[in-house]
Amino acid sequence: MRAVDVIRRKRDGGELAETELAAFVRAAATGADWEPYQLSALLMAIVWRGMTPNETATFTRLMADSGKRLDLSELPGPKVDKHSTGGVGDKTSLILAPLVAACGAYVPMMSGRGLGHTGGTLDKLESIPGFRVNLSEAEFRAALRATRIGMIGQTAEVAPADKTLYALRDVTGTVECIPLITASILSKKLAEGIDSLVMDVKCGRGAFMKSRDDARNLAEGIVRVARLNGLRCEALVTAMNRPLGRAVGNALEGIESLETLKGNGPADLTELSLALSARMVRLAGLVESDEQSRAKVRDALDSGRGLEYFRRMVEQQDGDPHVIDDYARLPTAPKTHELKADRDGFVADLDAESLGFAGMLLGGGRRKATDRIDPAVGFVVRAKPGDAVRAGDTVLVIHYRDDSGLSEVLERLQTSYTLTEDRPSDSNLVLEQIS
Ligand code: URA
Repeated sequence: MRAVDVIRRKRDGGELAETELAAFVRAAATGADWEPYQLSALLMAIVWRGMTPNETATFTRLMADSGKRLDLSELPGPKVDKHSTGGVGDKTSLILAPLVAACGAYVPMMSGRGLGHTGGTLDKLESIPGFRVNLSEAEFRAALRATRIGMIGQTAEVAPADKTLYALRDVTGTVECIPLITASILSKKLAEGIDSLVMDVKCGRGAFMKSRDDARNLAEGIVRVARLNGLRCEALVTAMNRPLGRAVGNALEGIESLETLKGNGPADLTELSLALSARMVRLAGLVESDEQSRAKVRDALDSGRGLEYFRRMVEQQDGDPHVIDDYARLPTAPKTHELKADRDGFVADLDAESLGFAGMLLGGGRRKATDRIDPAVGFVVRAKPGDAVRAGDTVLVIHYRDDSGLSEVLERLQTSYTLTEDRPSDSNLVLEQIS
């Protein structure tokens, strides 16, 4: 089969057969037979012509099968994960993994690092001194057996075809395409050995999907393709115009996650963590109704069992468990600067995307995948949308390391806050539920 014939067929709007998709995926995984420009040409044809649900499901399965697929059937209970499409201040994984484990499910979680203005779970976990995310497969299985939680990075053996295609998509303007995103995310989730998945599709300025329609289409597509591949899946579309919670930055988000597990978290972060945990617990089959699952996760939070499972996870993965009671053991930025309100009013808006980019300027995020990050820097939001402020009140605290970049950060932050005279109306956090 010639690459050019497969490209032509998709260019002209055809549906690719399994053999054609298999040739494409094999070429991406092995580097043989197709040139990178041919892989890229087919990616662009898919962007323009799309894929049918069956085509996307087959493509996803082949991508998952391009590498190692874990079999965790030895674990005597349901295996459930949550995946977020990425946002600013989104630290729900650190909170919900221990909550769901405390409710009786296994949580094998293969996460990513932050890129651009969005954060990543692995970076947040690594802000805990000693914490290891690069577990061997045997260590991952042992962690799951011991604590019901395993938090690791993607290994080289998982979905190698996605690795090649994602790198090409990044430089050929072919990232924003629902079938390609669906196959990319789900190929890695299918390889994890889970039987249920809850998707958190972020929507808004600080997210990948800016419009509600795009976010809903992606969420529906992922749920459909997951099911066609035998994975139970539900999705929430959630708001990402504003940062989630009050902390942005790796160690600061670690502290906020711990405060949330201690029952002192911000309302939005607590609400979303509980909503996602409850979906996971119900999808895993541990309860029969939404009501029961909400009560179960609430009890895991209120009783402190969620926090206890966090402690076990940290110990199991060689992190310092004393950080839980002593935040000074986490990386701390040497300097802080307080941003003040210039007049009385209400905070009407706080732009998640510009806060995310400002965090990157501080050194807390990556411009490219190989950049090193500073776990200590970031922001603590004192005044959130809806809060009343007086002139001179601190609205945001910047945690930073050196003065050279501060003026650029301050300039960016000037436009991220909007103050108004009237109290803004409340906005919903969970926008859609797809089940
Ligand atoms: N995350 C992924 O893993 N893949 C995509 O294509 C987009 C987001």
